[in-house]
Amino acid sequence: MMKSKIWLSSPHMGGTEAEFVKEAFETNWIAPLGPNVNGFEQDLELFLDHGCHVAALSSGTAGLHLGLILLGVRAGDEVICQSMTFSATANPIAYLGAKPVFVDSEPDTWNMSPALLEEAIKDRLANGVKPKAIIPVHLYGMPAKMAEIVEVARQYEIPVLEDAAEALGSSINGQRCGTFGDIAVLSFNGNKIITTSGGGALVSHNSGVAKDARFLATQARDEAPHYQHSQIGYNYRMSNLCAGVGRGQMQVLAKRIRQRRSVYDLYFTRLNGIEGIKFVQEPAGYFSNRWLTTITIDPAVTGFSREDLRLAFESENIESRPLWKPMHLQPVFNGSLFYGDGTSGKLFDQGLCLPSGSNMSDENMSRIFDVLDQFTGKKG
Ligand SMILES: *Cc1c(COP(=O)(O)O)cnc(C)c1O
Repeated sequence: MMKSKIWLSSPHMGGTEAEFVKEAFETNWIAPLGPNVNGFEQDLELFLDHGCHVAALSSGTAGLHLGLILLGVRAGDEVICQSMTFSATANPIAYLGAKPVFVDSEPDTWNMSPALLEEAIKDRLANGVKPKAIIPVHLYGMPAKMAEIVEVARQYEIPVLEDAAEALGSSINGQRCGTFGDIAVLSFNGNKIITTSGGGALVSHNSGVAKDARFLATQARDEAPHYQHSQIGYNYRMSNLCAGVGRGQMQVLAKRIRQRRSVYDLYFTRLNGIEGIKFVQEPAGYFSNRWLTTITIDPAVTGFSREDLRLAFESENIESRPLWKPMHLQPVFNGSLFYGDGTSGKLFDQGLCLPSGSNMSDENMSRIFDVLDQFTGKKG
């Protein structure tokens, strides 16, 4: 008999989600918008706690698309983007007919290198082009070096669009991810730390920006009794049903972060000290929600590759996944500019995401360790 599947990260309901959704049914507030959307936005504003304004949207990708529009990105413009990320970070640049300029990672957090960012900006300026925006990402929940990135951005007066899709609940010196950029984006896709079954949000310190996002996300209707439009609009708003799930999930977010972090601790305790296996560790003051636990495996030292391990997991019906393949190596972005030193390419070659769900049972964990033990020869 096939063993049950262990997922990389699967939805984990807390219990009260159904009550918010039931209330929406009982009041027939199925769509559009409604009290759950307002309530979910307020919950997020309270959680982020930095004078932020939130617009709940249909996805994180929609948030990135609107964010670029609100930062004034137009066809032909250049946008600097972290190369190592999920394609959803970079695709909205292409939606607008703008050009991505990819920047490599640094080894401490695996996110955008502030030094290579500055090198890219200088080189683009020397070529007579001023990039319109910078998109850093907090991969797997680990915050990017935001103080350094924002400093470079300020120096060259380029706005930052912060992709915090994987980092709700992460922080640097107590300041939450999602509050560093001129605009930030969250995701509540099914595999994220909390989910609305599908959804996202745009975050800004400027209430006008959040208001503009809501306006563009609801077809850009001017104030008039008839349907009048002076701008192109989008259908990007979150539904009242999804927001009901989100309100329930916000009640367990702190718990989900603790659970993800304890999954990380289990892996770390078991694998730490094995030559050739490395974890990405929190620099001083950094706090990761540990959305996914990730390791790198140096096959020259361990004698096995991340692909050997991934296939062994797969044969046991356990999902694991290579790290995000950098965008500068993706066929679809072939020919794009790239400023790098090879860090993200090497991480991709050696890196693996381990099953990290907050709903992982002890039994699942021991199935995973059985596979790991075959490779590391270590018994727990
Ligand atoms: C999930 C994710 C997104 C996109 O969010 P969706 O809600 O799935 O559209 C964007 N960027 C990163 C880094 C992500 O992980």
